[in-house]
Amino acid sequence: MWARIVQWLAVPDNQLVVAVFVSLLAGLYTGRWLDRRSRNLTKPIIPKGDKALFKGIQYILSNDHDQAIEELTKSVQINSETIETYVALANLYRSKGAIDRAIRIRQSIILRPNIDERIKLGVLFDLGLDYRKAGFLDRAIDTFHEVAKKDPSDVKTLEQIERIHEELKDWESAYQTRRRIAKLTGGDHKHILAHHLVEMGKVHQEKGELLKAVSLYNKAISTHKTCVDAYLHLGDLYFTRKEYKRAVSTWKRIVQVAPRFTFLAYRRLEGAYSAMKNLKPVGDFLKACAESSGDAFTYMALARYLYNENDVEGALEQVESALKLAPAFWEARRFKGEILLRHHREKEALLDYEDLISHLNVPFLKFRCEQCGYQSNELQWQCPQCRNWDTINLVDSADESAGASR
Ligand SMILES: [Zn+2]
Repeated sequence: MWARIVQWLAVPDNQLVVAVFVSLLAGLYTGRWLDRRSRNLTKPIIPKGDKALFKGIQYILSNDHDQAIEELTKSVQINSETIETYVALANLYRSKGAIDRAIRIRQSIILRPNIDERIKLGVLFDLGLDYRKAGFLDRAIDTFHEVAKKDPSDVKTLEQIERIHEELKDWESAYQTRRRIAKLTGGDHKHILAHHLVEMGKVHQEKGELLKAVSLYNKAISTHKTCVDAYLHLGDLYFTRKEYKRAVSTWKRIVQVAPRFTFLAYRRLEGAYSAMKNLKPVGDFLKACAESSGDAFTYMALARYLYNENDVEGALEQVESALKLAPAFWEARRFKGEILLRHHREKEALLDYEDLISHLNVPFLKFRCEQCGYQSNELQWQCPQCRNWDTINLVDSADESAGASR
């Protein structure tokens, strides 16, 4: 039977149940260990005669949460001392979305006299998770702070605190919390700290506190040299102040530090140079980028530039290069169609339409999270699903369409 359980536990779909099961077992073991410390050596892991608990565990394993709740409820009526059973019950209620019941059970556990401090902290942490899930962010953060106060080196709790600060857009507190996490765990946290600084900068910029914003963007860049978002916003800020040269040199640094994100600078460069009434440098810049990196976005930006300069053939050539790399790059498709129709090249437009149809079933997903697989049409620095920073990357559309047609 044990082999079957192990096999079952290995299936990823059963993760939630695993969590409840493991917490119950771990709790029961800890309970026995604590009993052992207090010289109560004879008490078995599952109390004798507690068939309901045994049945409850079996129902947890077969993913039948309703029956599991029923049996565990019976078990606590027989033996109201086993805190772990209450914890498992609360977890089951939470997994069913009955957060209020989960919260009430945990509150009653915490109020018990003589409860072991480790168990109490665990229950408090879970209570924080319940509050968060129920949307009571203030209560959640208070609860996590209570845990962190008693166990200041608990990274799991600090991560929860940081996440809520991020959700509340309290970037200063998120930043301070991340610094604490960095001190505890070591490793590289610079990219996260830089994002927090950029977000702080954005808030100041919105309030019109430009100097403060500039210094935060610069601090972000010195914290993490490849923080693309910092260059973008610093450049944008200079641009709104009509400091075009500064804006341009700031955006251009993206090409050096993170070439794969250069496309984010193109449109901005175009805007700045047209404000400066001199588009030639942007053309030179794009041509140099097309030669060195040569991704679909670069070709497309160069196509736009050439078309604005009335070089229709040159523009079509660049669009073709873009579509060769990424057949389902819709912006390029549309641009090509617009050029052909505007210049009355119906025959070519028709051929292009035929080619387009053959690619219609190709989903063009531009961005995907490396961590959790979340897919999006827009670039986000923080994944909305797994909340990791800088894990969302451009999907190579050529690979994507090749994969789809395979
Ligand atoms: Zn993700």
